[in-house]
Amino acid sequence: MNINIYRSDIQELIRGVDRKRQSDREGALRDCDAIEAYGIERKEDALVGFARFTRGEIYYVANDIPNFYRDMMECMKPYENIREWGYLVMANIMLGIMSLNRGNEPMALDYYDKASEYCEQYSLPDLAWMVHMNKGSLYLILDEFDLAAEHFTQGLHYIEGHPRMPARQEHLSAAYIGLGKCALREDRLDDADKYARLIRMVCLPDLTVETSVPSYFFFARLFHARGQDEEVRGCFARIRAGFTEKMPLMDIFDDLYHYLKLLLEMGEYEEFLFVLDKASPIAEQTRVRNFSRKLLTLRLRYEKKVDDKEGYRRDTAAYFDLAESLQQENSFMTRQMIDMRHEMSSLAEEKREVEKENEKLTLRSETDPLTGMYNRLRLNAYGEIAYDRAYRNQTGLAVEILDIDFFKEYNDNYGHQEGDKCIRFIADEILKLKRFGGVFASRYGGDEFVLIYEGYTDKEVFAIAQDLKASIAAKKFEHRYSRTDTKYVTISQGIFWGIPQAGHNVWNYLHAADRMLYKVKRKSRNSIMVGHAKDGEEQTAFEQGAAEAPIIETEQKEQFAPSERFKGNPEDRLD
Ligand code: GH3
Ligand code: MG
Repeated sequence: MNINIYRSDIQELIRGVDRKRQSDREGALRDCDAIEAYGIERKEDALVGFARFTRGEIYYVANDIPNFYRDMMECMKPYENIREWGYLVMANIMLGIMSLNRGNEPMALDYYDKASEYCEQYSLPDLAWMVHMNKGSLYLILDEFDLAAEHFTQGLHYIEGHPRMPARQEHLSAAYIGLGKCALREDRLDDADKYARLIRMVCLPDLTVETSVPSYFFFARLFHARGQDEEVRGCFARIRAGFTEKMPLMDIFDDLYHYLKLLLEMGEYEEFLFVLDKASPIAEQTRVRNFSRKLLTLRLRYEKKVDDKEGYRRDTAAYFDLAESLQQENSFMTRQMIDMRHEMSSLAEEKREVEKENEKLTLRSETDPLTGMYNRLRLNAYGEIAYDRAYRNQTGLAVEILDIDFFKEYNDNYGHQEGDKCIRFIADEILKLKRFGGVFASRYGGDEFVLIYEGYTDKEVFAIAQDLKASIAAKKFEHRYSRTDTKYVTISQGIFWGIPQAGHNVWNYLHAADRMLYKVKRKSRNSIMVGHAKDGEEQTAFEQGAAEAPIIETEQKEQFAPSERFKGNPEDRLD
């Protein structure tokens, strides 16, 4: 987001949010509220989207999932409006993670697919890898190990290829853990060991006590699978130290759950209760009922194992209550997602309609109704773009003015309607030049046309111009009143070619081309004259008729002198 376009106090608020989000959560949330209010008042979707997205992220990290959910859903519309695809990808990823944690895998997949769709459509490789990592975790939960490994591998490739990405070691460990878990679940213990080694060697030295917790969850499972329970116990302290309420529970819940299951299985009840009692209030805080339900399941299993009848009875009742509200929550979320998708797609549809309508209007205003060719308006815009491009690339650029010979005689004798047909005939022949690529054609007005050739040498331009002349001659479009020596419609072509230099512009070329045309008309119609900027001199190539070879003339005139009829102003664009 370019924040420089906003008032200075708004800029300060935005910078403040970034500063405060870690140290002063409440302050950052208040600033987001202020940015959102200002954005709504001024109809600035970028600000509204930013405020809601950022607040959503803050709530995610703070394990406040209902508020996270509301803000992430609400940031989508403003971001869709301004086509902020990157933020939409991230919002969809986070909503997918939430759905997965709420136990709704199909919905998670739907969010991730939506994120992938944006990444593909708008080429966002810097975000696509993140979608892969999350899809990997999802497929792992669904026991689709091949698919999971495929996605983790894609994520890993990206991370390996970007040595300077932020939090790289953490992401790298996530990819190794993902691949390691795939191996573990498929009983490929040696492969799992290989990833564990990589994590120890490459990642752990750079990870903090907190960020290394997922690695120890993985090590514990791997040790247990190898029957090395003493080593599992060696992980207890690390996990106790690193697992705190400061961690976004949604990022680690699945691992935590499997770890607790493992402790239960090993009969490590003390450790089990310690971690469970630490996790339960955090789970409550998130208000994700699925967390509470899963932890409660483990507690019930424990109570059964240790024959705690009283506890078992109490927790079974709590479990039933939870299961019911869980179902309600799920169907509520599904309905909301469907509504949101529906709203977004009709919004997108509306926008497409408006864009199509605008495109049509633009096209109409830039098109000449008689010939369907671009008109002078389009020439003005295109000419400058083409000139800049040729200047940047230092490639050849030519402007041609083409005029029908003795068209007045044609009009006066055959009538205006037939005159129109003749103009259309010439336009159609010119339009065929499109096959060359890099050739732009427009009707300048009356019986005049302007062409722009990009990326051709002077000789090539001359050859294309000859080609056009020949194709018109070949059609033998009758003009009995022509005062040339043929009784067919002919054209005269004035062309100016050069490699754009600083201080000149496309209008200089147009004026020069017009002078060439003037000379042709004076000297002999049905001819081509090419002038070119060379060593401070204008040179001209002259072709009389279609068959004769060009005569090269040297002009001593000052370069880019204004043409007569453009009233002496070389900058004149003739709008
Ligand atoms: P030259 O060889 O020197 O170009 O002579 P010309 O007769 O072609 O030149 P001039 O510019 O005097 O004539 C152009 C004529 O084109 C004059 C005008 O009546 C006619 N004209 C301009 N626009 C249209 C149009 O849209 N349709 C038709 N039919 N005629 C047009
Ligand atoms: Mg004419």
